[in-house]
Amino acid sequence: MSGLTGSATGPSDAPRRNVPVWDEGEWRGLPQLQGDVTADVCVVGLGGSGLSALHELLDLGANVVGVDAGLVAGGAAGRNGGLMLAGVAAFHHDAAAELGSERATALYRLTEEAREREIEAGVGGVRRTGSLRIAADDAELADCRAQLARMEADGLAASWYSGPEGEGLLFPHDAVFNPLERCRQLAQRAATRGARLFERSPVRELHGTEVVTDGGRVSCGAVVVAVDGRLDQLLPELADSVRTARLQMLATEPTEALSLERPVYRRYGYEYYQRTPAGRVALGGFRDHGGEDEWTATAEPSAAVQERLERFLRDELKVSARITHRWAASVGFTSGVLPVAATLRGGVRVVGGYNGTGNLVGAVAGRAAARKAMGLDSRAWHLLGGD
Ligand SMILES: Cc1cc2nc3c(=O)[nH]c(=O)nc-3n(C[C@H](O)[C@H](O)[C@H](O)COP(=O)(O)OP(=O)(O)OC[C@H]3O[C@@H](n4cnc5c(N)ncnc54)[C@H](O)[C@@H]3O)c2cc1C
Repeated sequence: MSGLTGSATGPSDAPRRNVPVWDEGEWRGLPQLQGDVTADVCVVGLGGSGLSALHELLDLGANVVGVDAGLVAGGAAGRNGGLMLAGVAAFHHDAAAELGSERATALYRLTEEAREREIEAGVGGVRRTGSLRIAADDAELADCRAQLARMEADGLAASWYSGPEGEGLLFPHDAVFNPLERCRQLAQRAATRGARLFERSPVRELHGTEVVTDGGRVSCGAVVVAVDGRLDQLLPELADSVRTARLQMLATEPTEALSLERPVYRRYGYEYYQRTPAGRVALGGFRDHGGEDEWTATAEPSAAVQERLERFLRDELKVSARITHRWAASVGFTSGVLPVAATLRGGVRVVGGYNGTGNLVGAVAGRAAARKAMGLDSRAWHLLGGD
């Protein structure tokens, strides 16, 4: 497929290879960790979850260091669909069936609070648009009805929807944003508030009071690990709890062919798309069409899934605009509806494994881990299953 041979620098007509559509702005970059530093808390992972943890720690008056193996939001946090959906990845009725209504509703409410915090902070061009869950067939319509009934019974905002996108559910308070820009702004704000942040500093060893990278070492009172995909590589003891998968997207040049007021989440969330403020269509999904190959730590787009995305773009969405970006990233899947929230290695607080939907629940988890690292209680930590 010609698109997969495009260059990262994006000549003429070739899609930008493995560069997300969100990467429009300048990023000056952060230093590598060199030598020994001390901190109250070290946060490993500068995606949305780790940056939320950092801000919680700053709110609590901690002296903090943050390190990332690559660049800020170089993982899923800066390469995702940009949908800010309340709840965990599982639909509310499924979460309620596993956790009980009370706990699932409490978790949903926490993600709503996280969304309101994001909208108030105004980072990443966040816009409240609402979101749609559109059913792909009659069986899914029935599932939408079951979800709506559970949400109404639990007092959560949703209504039936029928419109040009199809039929399903409308969640009126959800939002969209540029996820990479959000993280870059959160990192800049954290640095302004006194956090010392380091990029290109992969962690090689860690335990409760020490984090070791190639170039330096952080001695600290506590450690937070906030890593979604490839968490099992950093902490092999979690290999039975979380599994890394690849998710893929593409984006087009600006087009009038698709008019969308709000993002769409379709076929049980396997597909998702939005129209960016610049008029580009950003479309992801079809992980299941890639089969076993998508259970990989490789974060490069593959022909099988990209071809399926392209077919959906052309045949279902009727968009013929040129494809300008194709990209992939890693996320973590757990065996249930909850992510990982664990304490390991003498007090390392670990969060990740959001089952493909982590923008809001990751922020909740990151802040919860930060509170625990400071020796404080956290209702969110307990709701997430943390010890
Ligand atoms: C294509 C795609 C589309 C998605 N769409 C949506 C969506 O629309 N809505 C939604 O809610 N969710 C979506 N998700 C999921 C969401 O992106 C993630 O759950 C979320 O961004 C995870 O953020 P994080 O900060 O927890 O982890 P990550 O983004 O994984 O960040 C962890 C950071 O840790 C760093 N790291 C890893 N190992 C080490 C190490 N050894 N040393 C130092 N640093 C390390 C990584 O470099 C990375 O920067 C999507 C994901 C993908 C891939």
